[in-house]
Amino acid sequence: MLRNEPLEAWDRDHFFHPSTAMGAHARGETPHRIIETGSGVYIKDADGKESLDGFAGLYCVNVGYGRTEIAEAIAEQAHKLAYYHAYVGHASEPAIRLSHMIAERAPEGLNHVYYGLSGSDANETNIKLVWYVNNVLGRPEKKKIISRWRGYHGSGVMTGSLTGLALFHNKFDLPRAPIVHTEAPYYFRRENPDQTPEQFAQHCADKLEELILAEGPDTVAAFIGEPVLGTGGIVPPPAGYWEKIQAVLKKYDVMLIADEVVTGFGRLGSMFGSAHYGMDPDLVTIAKGLTSAYAPLSGTIVHDRVWKVLEKGSDELGPIGHGWTYSAHPICAAAGVANLELIDRLGLVDNAGKVGAYFNKAMQDALADHPNVGEVRGEGLMAAVEFVEDKADRKFFDPSKKIGPTLSAAALERGLITRAMPQGDILGFAPPLCLTEAEADKIVGIVKDAVVSVLG
Ligand code: PMP
Repeated sequence: MLRNEPLEAWDRDHFFHPSTAMGAHARGETPHRIIETGSGVYIKDADGKESLDGFAGLYCVNVGYGRTEIAEAIAEQAHKLAYYHAYVGHASEPAIRLSHMIAERAPEGLNHVYYGLSGSDANETNIKLVWYVNNVLGRPEKKKIISRWRGYHGSGVMTGSLTGLALFHNKFDLPRAPIVHTEAPYYFRRENPDQTPEQFAQHCADKLEELILAEGPDTVAAFIGEPVLGTGGIVPPPAGYWEKIQAVLKKYDVMLIADEVVTGFGRLGSMFGSAHYGMDPDLVTIAKGLTSAYAPLSGTIVHDRVWKVLEKGSDELGPIGHGWTYSAHPICAAAGVANLELIDRLGLVDNAGKVGAYFNKAMQDALADHPNVGEVRGEGLMAAVEFVEDKADRKFFDPSKKIGPTLSAAALERGLITRAMPQGDILGFAPPLCLTEAEADKIVGIVKDAVVSVLG
């Protein structure tokens, strides 16, 4: 059936793809690939070509492909009750169960979950909650939100503003006030090569404090950050970074939003990145790993100290004026419950820690000495290899050479999906958390082969 339909032509003529060069795609200059099936860490396309998915979709298929337990939970819920809303106190059983499961797994004090459908809308919720809280607390001028250059927090108007990557701002008139950006904790690209990781972490905290003072502490409401920078290059923070950042935030009474869309539910080898790095966030963004992308679902986990203010607000003002039709969608919640059960049953959080350590070491051993490899870095099952023209002075390749995309294409030819990260020549890895050591070896072998073929 599929082979007889002009699917490629329909795709090029009618499908407006996200994050795609529209003209080139419509003209047939970009790859067109229909993914048909998936099993474990592999996906297969309509031509029967199989690839090891080293990026778990968009770092979201944490339990791997083809999990019948989740498919069955979705089907069962769809038969029983596909939809009812969650407004004015209504609920479905899986939404309640899932809220309880999240609270049980989240760090201390994070006990209430507000649901959305994407990481972007969950961060929109966060921004609104921060503003609402400061209005209820009688400090309406405290509204600015500080994000980091290279942070990724979504593609909406406000969340696209939080995102600190030029690609997501250009020609969209972003970023918008009241969002301001501070330095990324990107040790490899530090300006001062003599700084130790600890000194660089202190430098980042000092920069944050300078910014808060320049903006006026009474105007700064919150700071948002991913425990490990993701789309901005997969960059684990330098030692002591979060401790030093949090000291500045506490000093100026600035809330902390931990964006755990990627790190939530095991990717770093801990259930949450916040716990992994000793963070004490007021709000936590979750998505991707919450359902392993078997159905779209995101959330904001609210700390008790914020919840108290929200309760006070609604006691004074009535119901909170914020809701999505699909908040806590029963089918998505059922997928979430089945997914979290599976993560526990298969011990995937521990596996991510153990196989992640093995994978990072294997990648290090295979590539760190290559003359064009600037850095191999990672934490749990998030890793990156950054390429440079000249290793000694960290000189980058001319962007027009497109080294990152060329390497990624060479890996794909060899049966491995990696991600050329959007800024810089960086190959990113975030495979499903069920990865085995043998599969980790396979990824490393293919990457090495691809690097040698492109760079010698
Ligand atoms: N936050 C982070 C840390 C992300 O990585 C992403 C997506 N990659 C988002 C938010 C936005 O999520 P979505 O694409 O589901 O809107």
